[in-house]
Formats: sequence, C-alpha cells, structure tokens
Amino acid sequence: MPRSEMKVALIRHTLSPEEVVALGARLCYSRARVDDLLERVSARDQTEFVSRIMSMGHDSVLEHASFTFGIEGVSRVLLAQITRHRLASFSVQSQRYVSYADGFGYIVPPKIAALGEDAQAEFEQQMATMHTWYTQWQERLGTGEGGNEDARFVLPGACETRMMVTMNVRELRHFFSLRMCTRAQWEIRALATQMHRLCMEVAPALFADAGPACLRGACSEGEKSCGRAKAIRQERQQLLEQFSHE
Ligand SMILES: Cc1cc2nc3c(=O)[nH]c(=O)nc-3n(C[C@H](O)[C@H](O)[C@H](O)COP(=O)(O)OP(=O)(O)OC[C@H]3O[C@@H](n4cnc5c(N)ncnc54)[C@H](O)[C@@H]3O)c2cc1C
Repeated sequence: MPRSEMKVALIRHTLSPEEVVALGARLCYSRARVDDLLERVSARDQTEFVSRIMSMGHDSVLEHASFTFGIEGVSRVLLAQITRHRLASFSVQSQRYVSYADGFGYIVPPKIAALGEDAQAEFEQQMATMHTWYTQWQERLGTGEGGNEDARFVLPGACETRMMVTMNVRELRHFFSLRMCTRAQWEIRALATQMHRLCMEVAPALFADAGPACLRGACSEGEKSCGRAKAIRQERQQLLEQFSHE
C-alpha cells in the first residue's frame, strides 16, 4: 500500500482579493458611489491601505475575499483538527462511498520515519494488518456503502484523505495564527504553512503578517511559549525578501 505525501493546490480565489477588500473598506468611509470607488481602488496600490485597515481591527472587510484549496496526502488525524474550524467550508472524500478494498494511502509521521527502516517497515506492516481487518469486514458486510461505512471503523488515523477547503481571508488569517504556531501539531502546521505560501503568491498585502501571534506582537501561548519568537520573525523576514525578489 502506498505512502502518501501532502499536496496542496490553490484551486480558485476571489478575483483581485486585495482590491475587493480595499473596496469594502473604502466604501465604509466614503460618500462616493460604488462605481467611482471601484475605479479609484483599481487604479491604486492597496498595500498600505489594507494593512492600515487590518491594524485598526476592521477585520470584517476581509470576509469579502475567499480562497479554495485542494488538499491530498493528509491523514484523518489532520481532518479531525482542520474541521474544528467552523467558518471554513469542506468537501471530504467519503469512506462510505469510496471502498479501500484495493488498499489505502497512509501518512508516516516524520518522527517514526526518523527511527529508521525497521521502524518504517513495522509501521507499514501495521497498516497492512489494518487493511486485512478492513477487507475481512467487507467480506462479511458487503463492499457497497452499507459495508464500507462499518468496515472503516478499523482504519487508522494515518489513513489518507482528500478534501477541498474554502476559507475567507479573515478565517484564513485566524487559521494561520493558530496552526502555523510551533504549538500546533506538525502535520496541520505543514499544511497551514503551504497554504500561507500559496496565499502570499496571490495577495501579499493580506497575508504578509499572517501566522503565529508572535509575528505581530507578544506570544499568545503564555508559559507554553516555545521562546522562538525572534527566530520566527527572522524566518518571516526571509520569506518576505524571497517574495520581493520573485
Ligand atoms: C495547539 C492547539 C491545541 C488544541 N488542542 C485541543 C484539544 O486538546 N481539544 C480540543 O477539543 N480542541 C483542541 N484544539 C482545537 C481548538 O480548541 C479549536 O477548536 C480550533 O483551534 C478552532 O479554533 P476556533 O474555534 O477559534 O476557530 P473557528 O471555528 O475557525 O472560529 C473562528 C472564530 O470565530 C468565532 N466563533 C466561531 N464559532 C463561534 C461560536 N459558536 N461562538 C462564538 N464565537 C465563535 C471565534 O472567535 C473563533 O475564534 C486545539 C487547537 C490548537 C491550535
């Protein structure tokens, strides 16, 4: 059965997200008509205005722009975490309609991989054993939706899933704040980091300071703080420099 690697694609996003957000904000503070504002907003670089709006906490304007991602090669463990984000929209590959009779992809945690080849082989063997249990239940319950829905109870948290996720910019920034923090679990942190990079390519003004709270001020984790705020700010600076050269 195949090991799966994380793949993240930005499928679609609101056209000109920075402009849309700026338009929403300018409309709040202007007597001008929408058409006139649109013309003015399109003609300008919105970077400074958007960052001023965000520093004022006028975050509702960020809800006008959305990003949709296609995500593969992530575990059901990750799924349990990401779906806690209630303001996101999800479509997830079904374990009722999709049969794993031919095997399932699985994620190997890096710490297990780092233990060496014997540990990895042991992990793979465990996956194969669970697949045997799964097919044994399918034989007794049937391979259709009715059988799959119960046979899946013996599948592991490591089992690969695929999903489409849509979040607006306000929710994305919140998601990045929690899930790019070093306190977040490694897999969802890796996913959030990839999603952030894709967002940066499209709308740097909306995402340049998105990430753990320590990028914008004090660490939010109290005594659980990793103490790496300085290094994390330096890493972000390097990312911004990289983007400014691209
Ligand atoms: C490091 C870490 C460890 C965690 N450990 C655990 C754990 O041990 N057990 C566990 O159960 N969960 C755990 N979680 C999940 C966590 O409790 C949240 O469920 C998850 O991070 C989603 O956050 P959220 O509710 O802020 O986000 P979203 O659901 O995305 O909501 C965004 C924001 O909208 C507002 N909002 C949304 N819904 C409501 C509502 N109904 N009422 C009022 N305001 C609302 C809130 O301001 C919220 O912050 C952990 C998360 C992290 C990052």
